[in-house]
Amino acid sequence: MAVYAFQCVEHGPVDVRFPIGTAPPTSSCPRCGAAMRRLFSPPALRLSSRALVAAIERDERSRTDPEVVTAIPARAGRPARATHPAQQRLPRP
Ligand SMILES: [Zn+2]
Repeated sequence: MAVYAFQCVEHGPVDVRFPIGTAPPTSSCPRCGAAMRRLFSPPALRLSSRALVAAIERDERSRTDPEVVTAIPARAGRPARATHPAQQRLPRP
């Protein structure tokens, strides 16, 4: 997916995502539905790590398609033993 810029007469520049190479010359504004013409700008090329790019894409995707939790996450629980020998001498509840 790539982000393409369109110009709405009422809302100004609007970013719309399309698969690379499939952006139409016009689109409809997601806020008012008016026809928008496509703006041409230099591509935003960056050298970023894959983890950072994946995190950014997940963040952007969560705006429209948030991940839904269907169950309560498992509880981490308490550590079985104290990590320091002095903590083992402390009174227990
Ligand atoms: Zn609009």
